[in-house]
Formats: sequence, C-alpha cells, structure tokens
Amino acid sequence: MPTYEYRCGKCGKRFALVQRISEHTGRAPACPKCRSRSTRQLPAVFYAKTVKKS
Ligand SMILES: [Zn+2]
Repeated sequence: MPTYEYRCGKCGKRFALVQRISEHTGRAPACPKCRSRSTRQLPAVFYAKTVKKS
C-alpha cells in the first residue's frame, strides 16, 4: 500500500499515513499531534521496503 506523507501547517509535525488508494480521497487528515486539519501532503515517497507477509 502506498504511504502518504503529510506535514501539519500549524505545528509543523510530519507524519505518514498508509492508505489504500480508495481511502486516499484528497481529504486532509487531522494532525496526530494538535488535531489540526491544516495538513498538507508532501510529495509522494515510495518506500522500497520488502513487505513481509505474516
Ligand atoms: Zn499539528
């Protein structure tokens, strides 16, 4: 699943969310630190990690 990185415009907190494409509707998620919704998505970073199946 793709990882989306966001940065909070209020407190500057950077955080990443793993979302399904269908969940990534473009709606800004709330900042986990200050709960502000003035978050901006950073340019997509694709992690080349191997995903282990458990
Ligand atoms: Zn914040």
